[in-house]
Amino acid sequence: MTTKELTCVVCPAGCRITVTLNDKGDIESIEGYTCLRGKTYAANEVTHPVRTLTSTVTIETAEGKKMLPVRTDAGIPRERLFDAMKIVRATRAKAPVHTGDILVADFIEPGTNLVACKDFL
Ligand code: SF4
Repeated sequence: MTTKELTCVVCPAGCRITVTLNDKGDIESIEGYTCLRGKTYAANEVTHPVRTLTSTVTIETAEGKKMLPVRTDAGIPRERLFDAMKIVRATRAKAPVHTGDILVADFIEPGTNLVACKDFL
């Protein structure tokens, strides 16, 4: 048996959650969560941790090059963040861009996209 102590980051309450794994790495119990979102977070965090990536890419505008805030529209595997940043650094946008526009489709994983977080018209 192994126990993992986590702080839930889904909401500001920051509940302390304890996940117990058996010798095969399967979840035996989850304790300390206040709501089901926290239970799901804890289960994912010990079996398949993901992160929403936020960063910036260069965008060409009429006033020259600017920095466009971007993020993934879903979590990507934590172990792929280094690969993800390589793609972000190589990505260039060109105005006009609207908030929510997809800059890179199927980013790291099918169905996950890198999207713009600001308008550049
Ligand atoms: S378990 Fe629920 S209430 Fe507690 S921090 Fe997570 S989301 Fe918030």
